[in-house]
Amino acid sequence: MKYLGAHISASGGVENAPINAQTIGANAFALFTRNQRQWVSKPLDKTSIKKFRDTCQELGFGPNQILPHDSYLINLGHPEKDSLIKSRKAFLDEMQRCEQLGLNRLNFHPGSHLNQIDEGTCLKTIAESINWVLDKTLGVTAVIENTAGQGSNLGHTFEQIRHIIDHVEDKSRVGVCIDTCHAYAAGYDLKTENGYNQTWEHFDKTIGFQYLKGMHLNDTKKGYGSRVDRHELLGQGFLGIELFKRLMADARFDAIPLILETPDENAWAGEIELLRSFAK
Ligand SMILES: [Zn+2]
Ligand SMILES: [Zn+2]
Repeated sequence: MKYLGAHISASGGVENAPINAQTIGANAFALFTRNQRQWVSKPLDKTSIKKFRDTCQELGFGPNQILPHDSYLINLGHPEKDSLIKSRKAFLDEMQRCEQLGLNRLNFHPGSHLNQIDEGTCLKTIAESINWVLDKTLGVTAVIENTAGQGSNLGHTFEQIRHIIDHVEDKSRVGVCIDTCHAYAAGYDLKTENGYNQTWEHFDKTIGFQYLKGMHLNDTKKGYGSRVDRHELLGQGFLGIELFKRLMADARFDAIPLILETPDENAWAGEIELLRSFAK
């Protein structure tokens, strides 16, 4: 079964997220559990936590259908010590929020070297950040998202993601989320049938499908290998609709949250309906 949803708004409280997800016909969703543009947020209050848990249960959203996303400010590979500590603390807070909400995974962008350290050092720092946080939490998997490779962002190749995983001590609590827009922009040709097959074969050999804990389904405004992260509505970008038909017919993507981050939230209900029609 395909779990389809979008990154929906949790404004007014996390407890609104499952309601907003149900409104667009989703059986999965992503959310921010705190303001994604601020370093410090007030803790989740008990009523909010209980309402979130109750509503998810009532509306049939289990933990495997929910993919929270961390703040964009966090850089777990930061080259400077003070900033790295700040990022680690914020990430720990995000993981603890997931624990409180009964969630089992947290999606994050791995990190950037900011042209101050080499790739290998940055990847190792990211892994050490993950180890530090996993040590202090229980039951939540850190889910590394592949990036488009914009600027000095790492995680745009499967090898880089593998490098991080190799240095994570508890491999049962590290996972991967593949964003289709980022992958194409980073030079993985998901558009053609041949490219699709080769990309996933390469993914399985390098990382392994057992690590796949979610997907972001986005078309792209920028071309193949552009290294630019600009999402587009499904079927209206460079990727085209065939990729999404293939994904929906592919059992390797069952039972994980498949999340739209396309630019028009009014299109989500229709996109979910369309994807569902491909899955049948
Ligand atoms: Zn994404
Ligand atoms: Zn993106």
